[in-house]
Amino acid sequence: MYLKNSKKIVIKIGSSLLIDNKKNIRSKWLFEFSKDIKNLLKQNKKVIIVTSGAIAIGCKKLNLSKKNLKLEKSQAVASIGQIELMNLFNKSFNKNKINISQVLLTLDDTEQRRRALNAKRTFDNLFDLGFVPIVNENDTTATTEIKYGDNDRLASRVAQISSADILILLSDVDGLYTKNPKIDKSAELIKEIRNIDKNIEHISTKSTGEHGTGGMKTKIDAAKVCQLSGCTMAIANGLSLRPIQKILKDNNCTWFLPKVSKLDARKKWIISSISPKGELVIDDGAKSALKKGKSLLAAGIRKVIGKFNKGDHIKIIDKNYKECARGLSSFSSFEIMKIMGHHSNEIENLLGYISKSEVVHKDDMVEL
Ligand code: GLU
Repeated sequence: MYLKNSKKIVIKIGSSLLIDNKKNIRSKWLFEFSKDIKNLLKQNKKVIIVTSGAIAIGCKKLNLSKKNLKLEKSQAVASIGQIELMNLFNKSFNKNKINISQVLLTLDDTEQRRRALNAKRTFDNLFDLGFVPIVNENDTTATTEIKYGDNDRLASRVAQISSADILILLSDVDGLYTKNPKIDKSAELIKEIRNIDKNIEHISTKSTGEHGTGGMKTKIDAAKVCQLSGCTMAIANGLSLRPIQKILKDNNCTWFLPKVSKLDARKKWIISSISPKGELVIDDGAKSALKKGKSLLAAGIRKVIGKFNKGDHIKIIDKNYKECARGLSSFSSFEIMKIMGHHSNEIENLLGYISKSEVVHKDDMVEL
């Protein structure tokens, strides 16, 4: 139903769908999957595929185990595997006359507004040219601190940036169960989730397969990004042939429904940031001002947590450490330490130069 009504779809493929436990490439699966994509394209839907597998396929080629692979080595392995991965896609998709392109993204490409807009434009141009973008993280340059590390969250950010209606995370599980289905027979598949509450967070098991890095935790994180950007997300089992056709037929998966969101594109981008750099603890007065749609001023800030620069994403939290807003800071953490608690007209004296008076301007902020 959700899939039928959608116009732009992002589909994420986990490594375990492309390479099995015995390290065999599942070429037949990929060929059948490309038929699913052909069907979606015939219905004039726009499709972006986010695929994992560069490291897993690189490991296969080099006869290495993915476990205990050091970062520097995994960067080289990804470089070797990525071209193999694209060759596999090219072979299967060509047979169905689907044009594909490769897009490699880093965390900065989605977290910096200018670069995110650039990525959006590239996706739009690829659609105009009739190509299906195949996205992966640029694992060859990403280091631990500046890395997604999992394609679930990357896919959710790609869905948000490209204004997709639907994100489908295809992996080797049917969806989210009430209990761990591997150890408890009474576990039931949850069909629809509107609210990701503590209970849902708790039941999301941390199990990961040998090839994937995500597990359920990163899928729930991805769902949170989608909910805030007005995108419907599914976790579905992609192991069988023609997985998209299967979802359309039996709908045996978990759907996360978006929170109704009338935010403009820029605010959606702000709120779904993957990596806020710091936090500002504010007092009750500032909290109620934010609720009325006002900017955050230095006077209402009690504490600065973390180090960040001007323009970075930050969380705004109340005195009970409950998140109440997200925004882009107009000052660095160092500057805020100097001006917090002070009236705006004291800022120039305290810093020694003229600057803005709002620490987070209302246009750069989304209240939660
Ligand atoms: N980008 C990684 C790769 O292609 C996969 C990350 C993940 O497993 O989600 O190997």
